[in-house]
Amino acid sequence: MVSIASVPVGGERFVVIAGPCAVESRGQLRAAAEAVFRSGAHCLRGGAYKPRTSPYSFQGHGEEALRALREVSDELGLPVVSEVLDPRQVEAMDPFVDAFQVGARNMQNFSLLQALGASGKPVLLKRGLSATIEEFLLAAEYILAAGNEAVILCERGIRTFEKATRNTLDLGAVALLKRLTHLPVVVDPSHATGIRELVAPMARAAVAAGADGLLVEVHPRPEEALSDGEQSLCPREFASLMEGLLPFVHAAGRVLA
Ligand code: PEP
Ligand code: MN
Repeated sequence: MVSIASVPVGGERFVVIAGPCAVESRGQLRAAAEAVFRSGAHCLRGGAYKPRTSPYSFQGHGEEALRALREVSDELGLPVVSEVLDPRQVEAMDPFVDAFQVGARNMQNFSLLQALGASGKPVLLKRGLSATIEEFLLAAEYILAAGNEAVILCERGIRTFEKATRNTLDLGAVALLKRLTHLPVVVDPSHATGIRELVAPMARAAVAAGADGLLVEVHPRPEEALSDGEQSLCPREFASLMEGLLPFVHAAGRVLA
């Protein structure tokens, strides 16, 4: 079990981490955070530094976004998860986040993994775009071996020949990881599908596959999002995801609240 501030991940409770892909403004963050809080999410996500495929795409608001995350998090009592891109950011980000996210594109950034190993804060490690399960576990091992046992694995879809979905959600990996390791495993159905309508069904499938939680993108107005709008849920859709999840969580012998 790994605790993100006061929220244990990998125990009886199925944990939902939700929020915008990127922090775009205080108003947008607050609206997203209040919506996910009202619907029963346990932690808040939000990107301050965005690893975009194009250097011309929105790169995140950096420290200003981190300050907003900390403020809203403290107000609502929702621990914050945010992505770190570079080992030089670890110390500066530390006071603002309750867990560091390592993105798919950085899964094998070994100097970043080692710096996080020395940090003592939980790390949500995303599977690389084309990483095998062995490579994924060895990346986790870098953090563990550097002295940090608080690692949460995140299956976020992998690259396959299929282009109809953004990535291919590897639910077999979830079931296998639960057998191979003691580390908690969460699923990101947002990046795994890239399609808003598929997020809730894949969230339910994740519960059935044995996942310990979810990472879900939520935006107050997805059509205006600066990143990942097509896969972001609006507050009403997120509320409905949470409601629909409940019987599946109970069937898996777990609790949500
Ligand atoms: C994200 O969580 O917004 C993100 C960039 O995810 P990934 O690293 O899985 O692409
Ligand atoms: Mn995103």
